[in-house]
Amino acid sequence: MREPHPGLAKGEILIVEDEPNIVRLISIYLEREGFEPTSAATGSEALARVASHKPALIILDIMLPDIDGWEVCREIRRDSNVPIIMLTAREGDEDKIVGLELGADDYVTKPFVPRELVARVKAILRRSSKYPEERSSQGEILDFGELRIEPDRREAWLHGESIQLRAKEYDLLTELARRPGFVFTREQLLQNVWGYDYFGDSGTIDVHVRRLRAKLKDDSSNPRFIETVWGVGYRFKDVRQPS
Ligand code: CA
Repeated sequence: MREPHPGLAKGEILIVEDEPNIVRLISIYLEREGFEPTSAATGSEALARVASHKPALIILDIMLPDIDGWEVCREIRRDSNVPIIMLTAREGDEDKIVGLELGADDYVTKPFVPRELVARVKAILRRSSKYPEERSSQGEILDFGELRIEPDRREAWLHGESIQLRAKEYDLLTELARRPGFVFTREQLLQNVWGYDYFGDSGTIDVHVRRLRAKLKDDSSNPRFIETVWGVGYRFKDVRQPS
């Protein structure tokens, strides 16, 4: 189930980290921006907090004293689409890819610049909090027959059934689907969807496309929606229904 994330950008940000100095540092920067930072020092404490308080976003460290951040992420994703930013300790792409596969929305490598972390928090919330107060019948509709997307409601349906998409998956799908037939490079998608430079970390896009295809029941070798343009990027097939 998609949960409404309260407020526009401001809300509770749960920091899951056992190192008090890091928690304090992140909290200071979040408070300055008007957020309400809370913290959990263990994975199990984090899961309890998520269940009882429904934070607007979670900053999740991998190294925790009990269950690790991967497991916490997996548990949260069983029934929540709350945005998650993972704190990874290593530079390796592997950590990042694992996190994204498990459903994290973004990751920041330690040591990090607090201001950059907060910028990412704000960027994610800006996108995921665009839930309209009331349903509008006038909103933009992207109709591809079996697939229908309503960007203003941040909802998509496959064969009439609502698809549960996470924030970045949704943003990526909408970005592609708004320009059927247009070939996006991975760099363009990173820029447009993530909003800042990933320094050519195209693995992020590939992971999200893979997850989107799975949810759209799309076959990469014979795609109905998202085509791979080898050596370049991705393109949404031009199968728009005449309206
Ligand atoms: Ca830690």
